[in-house]
Amino acid sequence: MAKSPSTPIHLIVVLLVTYFVCTMGKSNALTCPLPPELAAKLHVDPAAIDSASTDYGNIVHSKPAAVLYPSSIEDIQRLVKSSYNCPIPFGISVRGNGHSVDGQDMARDGVVVDMKSLRENKTGIKIRVSKNHLFADVGGEQLWIDVLHTTAAQGLSPVSWTDFLYLSVGGTLSNAGISGQTFLHGPQISNVYELDVITGKGELVTCSKRNNSDLFDSVLGGLGQFGIITRARIALRPAPTKVRWSRAFYSNFSDFIRDQERIVRGGQRDVANYLEGLLMFDNGTPTEWITSFFHPTQLPQIMSLVKTYGILYCLELTKYHFIEDIESEIDQDLQQVFKDFAHVPGFIDAKFVSYQEFLTRVPNVENESQTHPWQNLFIPQSRISDFNVGVLRDIVLKRNITTGPVLFYPLNRHKWDAELSAVIPDEDIFYTASFLHTSGIDNWQVYDDQNKAVIKFCEEAGIKIVKYLADYTTIEEWIKHFGSKWTTFRERKAQYDPKNILSPGQKIFNGV
Ligand SMILES: Cc1cc2nc3c(=O)[nH]c(=O)nc-3n(C[C@H](O)[C@H](O)[C@H](O)COP(=O)(O)OP(=O)(O)OC[C@H]3O[C@@H](n4cnc5c(N)ncnc54)[C@H](O)[C@@H]3O)c2cc1C
Repeated sequence: MAKSPSTPIHLIVVLLVTYFVCTMGKSNALTCPLPPELAAKLHVDPAAIDSASTDYGNIVHSKPAAVLYPSSIEDIQRLVKSSYNCPIPFGISVRGNGHSVDGQDMARDGVVVDMKSLRENKTGIKIRVSKNHLFADVGGEQLWIDVLHTTAAQGLSPVSWTDFLYLSVGGTLSNAGISGQTFLHGPQISNVYELDVITGKGELVTCSKRNNSDLFDSVLGGLGQFGIITRARIALRPAPTKVRWSRAFYSNFSDFIRDQERIVRGGQRDVANYLEGLLMFDNGTPTEWITSFFHPTQLPQIMSLVKTYGILYCLELTKYHFIEDIESEIDQDLQQVFKDFAHVPGFIDAKFVSYQEFLTRVPNVENESQTHPWQNLFIPQSRISDFNVGVLRDIVLKRNITTGPVLFYPLNRHKWDAELSAVIPDEDIFYTASFLHTSGIDNWQVYDDQNKAVIKFCEEAGIKIVKYLADYTTIEEWIKHFGSKWTTFRERKAQYDPKNILSPGQKIFNGV
């Protein structure tokens, strides 16, 4: 039998990769030969390992055995197949942009696929039109900031965003992707037409609501458990040119939520295109989210209001301006909206900014000496006043340690597709509360304690909160989290990732 002339080199590469991976890994997780095509792309040097052992939270640290820098989708497929075919499969986590806060993007003793190497190929975002549908085919590795720039250059835009755009498309679609547009358009996972996914068996599958719908529904909000998103077809609309951006302060919680809910229940774009809320606590300096919006001369008065009331509630809404709109009419519309609202008189401000300026309002700042003990919750509307008293006033205000923005705004259930994996409260309206703490390397524990106290209070008071970007570590907690969706979630895992290879950092099927 004739031998291929490349066989000896091929064999050496296989052995070398196996050797590198096995010698540095502390467990026997990577005991199988990896494909020679991956040899140059698999890194086991300390710099690569360290980069994949931490994330934005900077609290959980977990070392992989190797990091893959793929240059093609086939590279990822090869890696998944080798784990699937290995008698002892190894875990594989995708690192979209490493902005998890609890190690969800890590793979202890397994392989982290760092998607940033795919972003070097600049062809990851393609705008298309089909049967009157406008959409962009976007690589799962792409950042939303690049989706914004590419689509805006064509006068187009996705409809549903996150507050911060240096997040990957695959990463936010594995969670939900929420922001002030969610009340009107649903989360980002409600605005996807089609996906390409590499399953835990290494198969590349195209799926949509019509085609392989089970896989499509599983992956959206699926915490990376069923497949690796390599392409998402995202709905586009004509982009607004400008945004009328307004904020108004409330000293009274009931007034604040009543006015927020009026907008959400109406759900009409002629009232607002974006709605959020920000809380200010009487604990020192205001966050940049406040100082960057209001004129410096207004700040002393705002701070004095916070001192008086302990918590100041800030309603934030925007109205989009399209090319055909007349500015003064938009102003009149907004004045009409605020006319009936019960905000503190005089404490309202508005400005016109470009659409891109508005969407890029949260800067990309990273600081390795900080930690981020965040907590994001969904709270049923029927218990929101109890949450205000028991959590905002009795825990957060009294402990007086909160740093960083606290976001608080309502969402409506009917904009979420119940078939998808994401979990939300069982009420028409629910609130999101995001405690986006920043702390030092050594003092995140006090924030973690506060986060736990919030959960304990809600449990004891019977408030059925749902954690967004959940950080559970036991199967019992996950079963409770998914509730009635758990059986389907588990069955789909068995179908699409039967060897529990994908996203071990979520600690659902792999334990601590
Ligand atoms: C500063 C900041 C602001 C944020 N703002 C918002 C916000 O406004 N709204 C909001 O909804 N969220 C927000 N988030 C949370 C964000 O959505 C999550 O952190 C999410 O994980 C996206 O981050 P990432 O792209 O870096 O993904 P990673 O952290 O890298 O990955 C997250 C999870 O998704 C999996 N994953 C990543 N890529 C893929 C893929 N292609 N296919 C399958 N699985 C994949 C990973 O394995 C991991 O389990 C924010 C986070 C930060 C740090």
